[in-house]
Amino acid sequence: MAPPHEPLEISIVGAGIGGLAAAVALRRNGHLVKIFETSEIKTEIGAGIGIQVNALRVLEHLGVSREKLKGVYYNGITAFDSKSGEGIARRWLLPDMENQSLLCHRKDVHDELRRVAVDEGGQGTPVQLHLGTKIVECNPQAGTITLDGGEIVNADLVIGADGLHSTIRTSILGEAQHAPASGLSTFRGLIDTSKLQELSDSKWFTENGGISGISSIFIREGGFRMMAAFPCRNRSLINFVAVYSDPHQDEPGWSSKGTREELLHIFHDIHPKFLALLALAEEPIRKWQLRVLPLLGTWINGRAALLGDAAHATLPTLGQGAGIAIEEAGTLGCLLPLGTTRAEVPARLEAYQTLRKPRGDYVNRESLSQGIEPSKMGLYFRSEEVQRNLLTHNAIQNAQEYYEKHFS
Ligand SMILES: Cc1cc2nc3c(=O)[nH]c(=O)nc-3n(C[C@H](O)[C@H](O)[C@H](O)COP(=O)(O)OP(=O)(O)OC[C@H]3O[C@@H](n4cnc5c(N)ncnc54)[C@H](O)[C@@H]3O)c2cc1C
Repeated sequence: MAPPHEPLEISIVGAGIGGLAAAVALRRNGHLVKIFETSEIKTEIGAGIGIQVNALRVLEHLGVSREKLKGVYYNGITAFDSKSGEGIARRWLLPDMENQSLLCHRKDVHDELRRVAVDEGGQGTPVQLHLGTKIVECNPQAGTITLDGGEIVNADLVIGADGLHSTIRTSILGEAQHAPASGLSTFRGLIDTSKLQELSDSKWFTENGGISGISSIFIREGGFRMMAAFPCRNRSLINFVAVYSDPHQDEPGWSSKGTREELLHIFHDIHPKFLALLALAEEPIRKWQLRVLPLLGTWINGRAALLGDAAHATLPTLGQGAGIAIEEAGTLGCLLPLGTTRAEVPARLEAYQTLRKPRGDYVNRESLSQGIEPSKMGLYFRSEEVQRNLLTHNAIQNAQEYYEKHFS
């Protein structure tokens, strides 16, 4: 009788959307997964997030319930002129894209991934979630990570899903690679949908040119500014982002605490119907610095690999940062089935890099150029080619075919 397959022991650093998705993919294969997360994840996380069809395909493969994401269909965008208030509606250009992508509250996506990761009744061994645990170092060749209390944890594989300021990235590259200031920051906040009743004109938002999707407002004068809003959590909440030029990102005292007054001051000259929506924003309003990671020489070293923002943090222009982190998680699941040995891990990570890095680099660069180059702004919604590249991608099928060809 063949001996039973030994599961791999896997340490994942970071319990964001990327880390949790990777944990789900790997536990379902039968591996023993531990996640180490600095925070206690007690507070509401972030704001709205678009989960486009390329990522939903992977989430459904991982057993995530579409319903539990409480999403609103994301069928396109209406681009409004900030002065005239007029909008041009643009549906996805590709056929069969209607009612495929979702606009969600980030917490709903996070909660569902966490549920599937630790679910006692799910496939494989439930993931062990170590909250309030900061990782200070990793030895990629040995597969060890060091907790801030000094304890060392051994594993066959370490995944650095620790975001923009990744510690595991430093260990993998052998030097720190910071994401420089982009000069753009954004206000992010939520509005209770019932508050729309207070507006004299909310039709522009509720009807949105006839499309269930994003309302975006372009401002042509007065420095770089743009605003976008969309419904989420079964339309009970409205998420908004309001991006502005911010030359103070590296100055001491920069604070992520924003106020409604500051938000309204920066966007004071947009059409009153847009300003009226922003005025409904509930405090606290958070500010985020938008930072872009340069393309990395590698995402892997020995038995450690990067995933998500740790590998490719960029501007949110295409709304694909979490989406491709989910794709990367699904890919790792396909390349590391039960039966993969400790000795085989480095070669599987080479395959992971071959499959994923070109796409991560593409999303990083396109998000940047479509965010700041005037001729490319809004290109995603005008270009069938860009939409085909992003939306039709099937990360699971690609990885399964690669696995069959090279490892089965
Ligand atoms: C304004 C804005 C809008 C966006 N909109 C979209 C969108 O519509 N669609 C989309 O797909 N993406 C969007 N994104 C991008 C998306 O939010 C990110 O790409 C995604 O959340 C990254 O997930 P992650 O798991 O890689 O990293 P993170 O969410 O940053 O998670 C990293 C985790 O690691 C933990 N951590 C860090 N260091 C350590 C350590 N040393 N030890 C232990 N734990 C550690 C952190 O506490 C954190 O929980 C948007 C981003 C912004 C700023």
